[in-house]
Amino acid sequence: MVAKTPRDQLELPVCSSCGRTIPPYERAARFLCPNCGEVVIWRCERCRRLANTYKCPKCGFEGP
Ligand SMILES: [Zn+2]
Ligand SMILES: [Zn+2]
Repeated sequence: MVAKTPRDQLELPVCSSCGRTIPPYERAARFLCPNCGEVVIWRCERCRRLANTYKCPKCGFEGP
């Protein structure tokens, strides 16, 4: 069974590397900060390909 995405999810995630909003159809990566584990880090498809670094807004951790 396929669950429908709620239509009220208007807030798009923002890439933690380039600050760009990530459209729902993009194959972005989403994971918790490996250092503090409290912040959800988003990386858009482009930043994944280019291996851009991201920075956690909470603990300042920078990673590839
Ligand atoms: Zn990006
Ligand atoms: Zn963190």
